[in-house]
Amino acid sequence: MATPDQWKICSNCKKPIPFGSAYYQCSVSTCQRSRTALYFCSVPCWDAHLPMMRHREAWAESVTAPTRVDWERQQAEEAEGAAAKVEERTVNDETAKTNETEAHAHAGGESANEVLVVVSKLKAYIKAKSGMNTSDGIVPVLSDYLRRIADQAIENAKSDGRKTVLDRDVRPLS
Ligand SMILES: [Zn+2]
Ligand SMILES: [Zn+2]
Repeated sequence: MATPDQWKICSNCKKPIPFGSAYYQCSVSTCQRSRTALYFCSVPCWDAHLPMMRHREAWAESVTAPTRVDWERQQAEEAEGAAAKVEERTVNDETAKTNETEAHAHAGGESANEVLVVVSKLKAYIKAKSGMNTSDGIVPVLSDYLRRIADQAIENAKSDGRKTVLDRDVRPLS
């Protein structure tokens, strides 16, 4: 962060935008997103970003920067809000885990031997398809299969720079 009396710097000419002063922002929402927001000290500076962004329709909005006190209060409130959200999420996770444990008595824990298949459904499928019974012995074997498939999918997602494993990360069975 920069000198204490400047709120932001102009995204074009890098001139400081002091607390409580007038500045310009772009009317296009992508130019206002908190992470990548653009701030302009003047309309010519706002004009300068247009060729890069290729907006279809845009205008400069005159805005007043928050005072330092307001800004600090806002930052504090945002931090508090974020903390509350994390807490909420943790609680939800706990609930989800509890439900899951209840639904599949065999699941739970994070050991490498954990059962990853719903045994009753698997047995029902095999029974319906073939009339055969199923030995419990296949459950750990299939769970290992799933772990290997999942590990592979994780690697695929990672090498793609993603944090979400997608369907296309799972190799189809040949
Ligand atoms: Zn400027
Ligand atoms: Zn813009």
